[in-house]
Amino acid sequence: MTADHSLQILLDELGRLPGIGPKSAQRIAYYLLESDVEEARRLADAILSVKEQVHFCSRCFNYATGDECAICEDSTRDTTRICVVGEPRDVTAIERTGSYHGLYHVLGGVISPMDKIGPEQLHVRELLARLGTEDIHEVIIATNPNIEGETTASYLARTIKPLGIEVSRLASGLPVGGDLEYADELTLGRAIEARRTL
Ligand SMILES: [Zn+2]
Repeated sequence: MTADHSLQILLDELGRLPGIGPKSAQRIAYYLLESDVEEARRLADAILSVKEQVHFCSRCFNYATGDECAICEDSTRDTTRICVVGEPRDVTAIERTGSYHGLYHVLGGVISPMDKIGPEQLHVRELLARLGTEDIHEVIIATNPNIEGETTASYLARTIKPLGIEVSRLASGLPVGGDLEYADELTLGRAIEARRTL
């Protein structure tokens, strides 16, 4: 393999990453070329280790290194509340606010008829199973404030309310069409505290 070819493979791989355009891919590739081999190895090892060691929590489908994630294993959490989110990164966003101390349930996406994603493709069945076995008093639906997120929220509310469990939704004030992960901590924290019952 020539040096050009080897560099091109790196550029192609970097260019596939979200948010990395050709210019950024080039900047990173040249940075790595000039850095020492140890630094490059640390990055390569970090990527491999996250792929080998991180999987989904068996209870809430957040990222975990053991059977259950750090939040499910934390005995100081309020185990009577579940906050339902689309993706593990939304857990991180809500944790950053410090306004919520209950448990989570990650759906692994949201209902999207256009993409042929219905409740069966998400971890809805597992959520309902948890509601049957855990002592849950409130389910807070924190899907993103866009069409798919709202569709998912109303589906879940319709399904869960008949079980006699309180269902609430984040208060408005979040940028409509935006993602939770990009909301600032203060706004997201307020939206959790001022959640409304559905
Ligand atoms: Zn968990």
